[in-house]
Amino acid sequence: MEVIDARVLSREELLPELFFIWLEAPTIAREARPGQFLMVSCGVHKDPLLRRPLCVSRLAPMGNGQTPDRLALLFSVRGRGSLSLGQCQTGDCLSILGPLGKPFRLERASRKVVLVAGGTGLSPLGGLAEEAVRQGKEVTLLLGVESATKMFPPRVIPQGVRLEVASMDGSMGHKGLVTELLAAHLAGADQCFAVGPLGMYKTLARIRPSLPPVPIQISLETRMACGTGLCFACSVPTRQGLRLSCKDGPVFALDEVLWDRL
Ligand SMILES: Cc1cc2nc3c(=O)[nH]c(=O)nc-3n(C[C@H](O)[C@H](O)[C@H](O)COP(=O)(O)OP(=O)(O)OC[C@H]3O[C@@H](n4cnc5c(N)ncnc54)[C@H](O)[C@@H]3O)c2cc1C
Repeated sequence: MEVIDARVLSREELLPELFFIWLEAPTIAREARPGQFLMVSCGVHKDPLLRRPLCVSRLAPMGNGQTPDRLALLFSVRGRGSLSLGQCQTGDCLSILGPLGKPFRLERASRKVVLVAGGTGLSPLGGLAEEAVRQGKEVTLLLGVESATKMFPPRVIPQGVRLEVASMDGSMGHKGLVTELLAAHLAGADQCFAVGPLGMYKTLARIRPSLPPVPIQISLETRMACGTGLCFACSVPTRQGLRLSCKDGPVFALDEVLWDRL
């Protein structure tokens, strides 16, 4: 873990208030694994002052090499910090701390994995999908969006995956919640990874008994101030007692978290 000034290589507003930013960050990109996160300064003016937690969305080399030396952020505007961050420009430097937290545990032996992304949950799952495809696994990505107009552009959908979309208004793919697609895809899968809003996790926990017993890992977007285990703002009730999302997570087993206490 270290703090560096990362140069903005590119900044795209994919949809209104949805940003995809590539940063030059060789030392952090080399260490980072899908599921880990960064504490990112809110733009060049650092206003608000506290860094905001964002997942490492993608990892890639700058040239033809194999070792990643750049990383991408995929985030939506929720408040002042993300709004300010979205206004950065190519060539700006952002102060980032990372990589932080525990990554997804993608088993070498797994042949078939199912990913469930609710909206910007695609951020960490995009990188995980790329890693799983590289390892030769069969990857199904279930993606939930509000409507066809909120669908992510094809260039941020990971290559080599089988994609199924659910939209709340039925304008694209299955009409309804993305979790409704899960039962049909989980049979025969070795692992499942889900990232989305708290409501999606609570739904998953509720329908869990009716699903095939495939292990499910989730990533919690608990609000946090420091990201390093000092402030205790991100404690999460689990079967093993209180855990810190920043150090023990943000990746947890779905069955480990006490959802009725969140
Ligand atoms: C480990 C981790 C990884 C994350 N990765 C991503 C990512 O890859 N892409 C992405 O878009 N977002 C991600 N988030 C959420 C992101 O950190 C928040 O959206 C951001 O901190 C909001 O800051 P703000 O100043 O814009 O909003 P604030 O002004 O701080 O808050 C605005 C509104 O957003 C809500 N909010 C703030 N933080 C969170 C949160 N963590 N979870 C739910 N609601 C929140 C507040 O309750 C408030 O209503 C991640 C969060 C964590 C903890």
